[in-house]
Amino acid sequence: MTTSTGSSPKVAIVGAGLTGLLAAHGLKKNGFDVVVFDGDAHIDARPRDWTIVLHWALPVMQALLPGEVAAKLPRAVCNPNLEFDANTESFPVYNGVTGDLMFASPMPGSRRISRQRLRRLLAEGLDIQWGKKAQSITSSEAGDSVPALTLAFDDGSTVAADFVLGADGAHSRVRGIVVNDTDKARSTPSGLLFATAIVNYGDEAKVKTVTDMHPVAAAAMGSGAVGGCGVFYVNDGSEGAKTLDLADWTTFWIKIWQGHLDKGIQGQEAIHLLKSSDSSKQFAEPFNLQIEWTPEDSVCFVDEMKYWVPVPFGGPEATRDNRVTLAGDAAHPMLIYRGQGFQHAIMDVDNYIKALVAIRDANWDAAVRRREMAAYDADMVERGAKAVTQSVQEAALSFDVEKVGKMLMAQQGHGRSA
Ligand SMILES: Cc1cc2nc3c(=O)[nH]c(=O)nc-3n(C[C@H](O)[C@H](O)[C@H](O)COP(=O)(O)OP(=O)(O)OC[C@H]3O[C@@H](n4cnc5c(N)ncnc54)[C@H](O)[C@@H]3O)c2cc1C
Repeated sequence: MTTSTGSSPKVAIVGAGLTGLLAAHGLKKNGFDVVVFDGDAHIDARPRDWTIVLHWALPVMQALLPGEVAAKLPRAVCNPNLEFDANTESFPVYNGVTGDLMFASPMPGSRRISRQRLRRLLAEGLDIQWGKKAQSITSSEAGDSVPALTLAFDDGSTVAADFVLGADGAHSRVRGIVVNDTDKARSTPSGLLFATAIVNYGDEAKVKTVTDMHPVAAAAMGSGAVGGCGVFYVNDGSEGAKTLDLADWTTFWIKIWQGHLDKGIQGQEAIHLLKSSDSSKQFAEPFNLQIEWTPEDSVCFVDEMKYWVPVPFGGPEATRDNRVTLAGDAAHPMLIYRGQGFQHAIMDVDNYIKALVAIRDANWDAAVRRREMAAYDADMVERGAKAVTQSVQEAALSFDVEKVGKMLMAQQGHGRSA
């Protein structure tokens, strides 16, 4: 990361998800004054957790973090004690009808992490203000003077900032502001339901059905639905924690299938839906059994996946003269195929910080700001649109065993989508 000198502007980040927190670390590391605002009351307000595989953008992410935070990354890794090699750093896909291995996608250097554990780690050492749901952004009459923006929250409070980064997730409020058209900024329901379950079988043989598929995670495709399983936690996540006995490992399964849901469901209602569905029963073993064995008190969520294909922003008024933009799921919420969403969020953050550094190096020159931020936006829209579109095309091929071989995942692995 380039560093530069100069006075420090205030960057307000909306959203303390992985994208906002990573951006805050990178900006702080480069000498910017940064504060993060999140609408939730506290970091644990939402119980849902899932695993994310960090792969092609992991080196960029590590470079954005201060050394002491990067050094703690193993704490967030689902099983940090594995021997990492070509097998553990790959993602096998099984035939959902027969249970035979179809292909294994190589992911050299990859690590699968718990989103919640990584988020807690990234929250360390940052100025985060909880219970601050952003509503609007106004620019001051003073034009190019600093600070130029007022960010207003739904509790009636406001904060002054020079730049605002909208990292407020798939249902981003800031997206509506920069696109300046509510309809154009609305996410599209995919017609695909997505279930995630976190399971403690308390039974070595059952846990082994997961690790036998793969020590990290595996998927089953082509039976009319997509299934997946993997290891979530092998210890309690504390510093230096020892690996538990296999029977006590926490595992996960996921399922994707066609359907609509206006509102997500969770807990026992979700588990009953999954256990009783024909497409769960039709999965080849052990994917069907892993769902059937799910204890009733497991954490399970089902909702409909949504996506948004980014479009160019609404012009200087909408972006408050190139001071407001987006990153992460706010910019390009996509379907989970090939695990690209957070990888592109990392690229957004890296590019955003490079743009701000260039603007600072030009002593906050307004023309440089317009040029750098417009270039950031253009790349993010083009790269994001390609990645989102690919994720939707990938999904369409994943349910039919005759078409799985045509997926990018089968033909090009988990490489960079755009
Ligand atoms: C099951 C699953 C598996 C995935 N697997 C992978 C993978 O393997 N690889 C990969 O790269 N990606 C993966 N992804 C995608 C990845 O999880 C997301 O891209 C990433 O977590 C997005 O983070 P974010 O910070 O942009 O958004 P979010 O995590 O949604 O964070 C947004 C934050 O903004 C806050 N917020 C919302 N509105 C406001 C407001 N108005 N004011 C203030 N705060 C607000 C929210 O409270 C939240 O904290 C996966 C996603 C899922 C669901």
